[in-house]
Amino acid sequence: MTTPRTVGFKKGERNIFFHILTACNLSCSHCYINPAQHGTATLSLETIKKWLDLFYDPQKTGNVIFLGGEPTMHRDLAAAICHAKKRDFAVTVDSNGYLFHDLLERMTPADLDFLSFSLDGPDPDINDPIRGQGVFGTCTANIKKAVTRGFRTSLIFTASKKNIDHLPRMIPLVKELGVERFFIQVIGLRGKSAQQDEGDEQLQLTREQWLAVVPKVAREVAREGIHVTYPKVFLDDTEPFSCAGIDAENYFIFPNGRVYRCPLCEDYPIHSLKIEQDCLVKNEGLTEEQFFGLNIPEGCVMNKLLQQDNIDYDEAGKPVNRISCCLIKNEITV
Ligand code: SF4
Ligand code: SF4
Repeated sequence: MTTPRTVGFKKGERNIFFHILTACNLSCSHCYINPAQHGTATLSLETIKKWLDLFYDPQKTGNVIFLGGEPTMHRDLAAAICHAKKRDFAVTVDSNGYLFHDLLERMTPADLDFLSFSLDGPDPDINDPIRGQGVFGTCTANIKKAVTRGFRTSLIFTASKKNIDHLPRMIPLVKELGVERFFIQVIGLRGKSAQQDEGDEQLQLTREQWLAVVPKVAREVAREGIHVTYPKVFLDDTEPFSCAGIDAENYFIFPNGRVYRCPLCEDYPIHSLKIEQDCLVKNEGLTEEQFFGLNIPEGCVMNKLLQQDNIDYDEAGKPVNRISCCLIKNEITV
């Protein structure tokens, strides 16, 4: 089956994107981490456990994604995973591939639901100028090691103008590495990619570039028996618009205590929640929440505010396509 299915928000499900530190050994050109907004702290194990417990609800399915920075740089990541599993969370770790602190030796495949790796090109010539010298070799070697040891693995490719033409060459690589899932992401206008100077090469893809490459590659990867997910991005007239800030329970937690409901807001101090003295508190005043309910012809309000160039208008001034919530995905299962 290679027809994409739109994955809407699941009622009774809670997704916790937990940045346990912002430090990283790499300096990727599109990094979305913004220390001025997200802090530079490394949370202690004790704090990680307390904060995880704030989001635990036995009535709901909970998914925790441990992020950084590079989460494996945290010496207590294995213990944090163990605590999350005790609370019945499904746990994913998103790594840049370096797997510090012997993570594979300290865990068994039963301790973790998914180990996700980021790679932005099919070879060092494409990947390493984006992610760093030597990263392709280290990351692919550790993916192979994880697969051989029986860990469930996935691969994330962030598509931008720098690498979109090379996405088709990821098809044989994904197969060779033996990963179960392949995620294609679109580069956002956050962190470093939002801080480009005039004259810098623009990284954002046009609608035409995205549609010409991504759906076809996704189908071909799925034909190899690999589960593929990619953002919906554009809605046609028959498809309903839904904002995750209203219709889903996603929490993006940063080490300085900010908790966002929408990832597009993360460069701004408009987080709707914060953790203060280990308690979850609602923020007063102007926050992201005030934007979620605005009903505009373009679809996603934050996209209209931050990424206007994504939106094409017809002669009557009507958007050619509405922009979907960035958290709505197309999925091809096998
Ligand atoms: S690995 Fe992730 S956190 Fe580290 S620099 Fe790259 S994008 Fe940023
Ligand atoms: S990306 Fe847009 S639609 Fe999705 S949560 Fe944010 S504001 Fe809502």
